[in-house]
Amino acid sequence: MASFISVRNLRKRYGDFTALKDVSLDVHEGEFLALLGPSGCGKTTLLRSIAGFIDGLQGEILLDGKSMRYLQPNQRPVNTVFQNYALFPHLTVGENVAYGPRRNGQKKAAAAKLADESLATVGMKDFKDRYPSQLSGGQQQRVALARAIANRPKVLLLDEPLGALDLKLRKRMQIELKTLQQSLGMTFIFVTHDQEEALVMADRIAVMEAGEIVQIGTGREIYHNPASRYVADFIGDANLLECREIDGHLVAAGGAVKVERSEADRTAAKAIYLLRPEAIRVSPYESSSDSESLSVAGLIRDVVFVGNSTRLIVNVNDTEFVCQFPSAATGTQYAPGQNVFLTWAKDAGQVLSR
Ligand code: ATP
Repeated sequence: MASFISVRNLRKRYGDFTALKDVSLDVHEGEFLALLGPSGCGKTTLLRSIAGFIDGLQGEILLDGKSMRYLQPNQRPVNTVFQNYALFPHLTVGENVAYGPRRNGQKKAAAAKLADESLATVGMKDFKDRYPSQLSGGQQQRVALARAIANRPKVLLLDEPLGALDLKLRKRMQIELKTLQQSLGMTFIFVTHDQEEALVMADRIAVMEAGEIVQIGTGREIYHNPASRYVADFIGDANLLECREIDGHLVAAGGAVKVERSEADRTAAKAIYLLRPEAIRVSPYESSSDSESLSVAGLIRDVVFVGNSTRLIVNVNDTEFVCQFPSAATGTQYAPGQNVFLTWAKDAGQVLSR
């Protein structure tokens, strides 16, 4: 697929500090891309660079093959939705949404029509005569979205737009926003530090670390094949066991885990054994071992009930394992202090060399 937005070697410095280090990124038309990473990794700087709000950039941003270098924010075919949606308090909902088209030179009637259509898209048409202060947070958020799409931008840039909402509303809006994006066929770039939000909404996720994109791919690709310990830790829960090399094998958890060292990770100074909590089967009974699986004995330290799933913290030779399974999956009641056996398929574990 041809790239619609192309970011080439983008670099931004604030004094001695480099906020973006030669970032390159391709986004396809109609794609929903999430920029994911912890606070301070450069997500907002990258998003605002595309929007045109960042000065002193090195590198190039192309949109549909056209350089954005000399275009002011309002000349770019993009629109931005910020976390604090900043609706005009003295304008009604309808006037807020019609504001952009009016400023872009639309006649009053045409702007009102665009506003109506945009409000209908986000399910807020009946609220057009209210003022922002008469709306809930979620409703204001939808109006902010309607305002952004009223200009029919080719690209919508969203900076943690659901950050101010409570969890339940946030989850509902995630689905609504995804549906809206698909029905409009617009390209969305969405900033979040919430890995679950990125997994739920995005076609692809770009994981950022300290001013760089360290991995980009679908949620599934990144979850199942993280490029590094950092990515594995950031997306989903992970057991990350430090390995030592003994006689050509990688050994972790005091010898309980032993895997062959492959060519690929031979060069790494430090190897990590990654095992997802849900890949571990827990049982009070020792299972007969076979060549396809690994089994270790441990002692339950903690049992955490999280509604639909249950998490066990199990000590294996002083190394902590987190195991997770659906609460309904087992009739066994586990308790701290209990001896258990952890079993997993050998191919469920993977060695990360960085
Ligand atoms: P958050 O999730 O907290 O918004 P972020 O990943 O979006 O974080 P940015 O806002 O892009 O991070 O900031 C990246 C880095 O650049 C941070 O370390 C920040 O302190 C620094 N930074 C951002 N703006 C400036 C500025 N105007 N002057 C100096 N440093 C800045």
